Amino acid sequence: MTQTADKTNLLGLTQRQMEQFFESIGEKRFRAGQVMKWIHHFGVDDFDAMSNVGKALREKLKACSEIRSPEVVSEDISSDGTRKWVVRVASGSCVETVYIPQGGRGTLCVSSQAGCALDCSFCSTGKQGFNSDLTAAEVIGQVWIANKSFGTVPAKIDRAITNVVMMGMGEPLLNYDNVVAAMNIMMDDLGYGISKRKVTLSTSGVAPMIDRLGGDIDVSLALSLHAPNDELRNKLVPINRKYPLAVVLEACKRYISRLGEKRVLTIEYTLLKDVNDQPVHAEQMIALLAKIPCKINLIPFNPFPFSGYERPSNNAIRRFQDLLHKAGHNVTVRTTRGEDIDAACGQLVGQVMDRTRRSERYIAVRQLAEDSQGRQAGSN
Ligand code: SAH
Ligand code: SF4
Repeated sequence: MTQTADKTNLLGLTQRQMEQFFESIGEKRFRAGQVMKWIHHFGVDDFDAMSNVGKALREKLKACSEIRSPEVVSEDISSDGTRKWVVRVASGSCVETVYIPQGGRGTLCVSSQAGCALDCSFCSTGKQGFNSDLTAAEVIGQVWIANKSFGTVPAKIDRAITNVVMMGMGEPLLNYDNVVAAMNIMMDDLGYGISKRKVTLSTSGVAPMIDRLGGDIDVSLALSLHAPNDELRNKLVPINRKYPLAVVLEACKRYISRLGEKRVLTIEYTLLKDVNDQPVHAEQMIALLAKIPCKINLIPFNPFPFSGYERPSNNAIRRFQDLLHKAGHNVTVRTTRGEDIDAACGQLVGQVMDRTRRSERYIAVRQLAEDSQGRQAGSN
């Protein structure tokens, strides 16, 4: 349970944990449902607003607990309706949350860690190094904040957020307990009542944790593939050296087969010009995914300064998509949203206090590159 000083933060408690909490303070379990509805359906963080909770209990709750969401540092709204919040978490770092409206859907992209230790070569979050795991309250707090900002409370009526994807900053399977607790609250009717098919966890491939996830919860799974062979994937997604493609894909297959119903794996594939966007890569991908029920989401690379990568041309993207499509795959290309507020995948920068010191090395490399560019410009 999330605590500051000696107060329990009720925001991050699952229904079961909330019932245990009320029992631990000598109260009836049904109080859990009442309080959860106030918090998640009505966006309340003040015990005095809970009109069906008697004054004595409200005072007792105030003495031993709190409802504390991360601090909102900024909220930006893009011309296309995309919204981005920067929130500060307890470690002092900032993370980002993005809301993307599309058709009748509203997808919230939620962060799980401040920074990321995994250092995928094309990801700006990876370049910032790792600072901290978010608490369950900080993960679900992003949903709470977004939901409140739409003024669509109660959350279950006139819902703005129909889908949640754990695709913000961080690797969700490396902050397992807190992410699973938060996803439970997202799907709970006392929480946000989002259907299990519409909550998606995206992973770069922490194979043993995929198996663990399958035993604990039923959410949609996305694998960040990015390369169709181990040699290339080792370079782009370094965790592949620990859990190579054969191992991670087997874990994904076990995960979706356990779900039983007609569920499929989402494959995310960031297209990098001349690196993984050639016909040979599409062919290898077709062979690799032949026996896996999946849908493929191609993400044209979103550039950031000194990444060393480029976005492929629209023709190259279409060519890649067509090859997969002809092999019978369901393939979509993710359009970039919220460009004017830097809200695209892999561009989430937050303000991470780096404990790995990776960002220092990255800044040093950038500096060298800038200096040499300056020199070249000067010599022209
Ligand atoms: N850590 C998890 C989830 C967060 S990243 C994961 O890696 O799956 C969400 C998606 O954005 C991942 O597929 C990631 O590889 C992709 N991504 C990261 N940087 C990107 C960039 N610069 N351009 C396009 N996609 C990027
Ligand atoms: Fe971490 Fe995902 Fe970025 Fe890789 S792509 S560095 S796992 S956030």
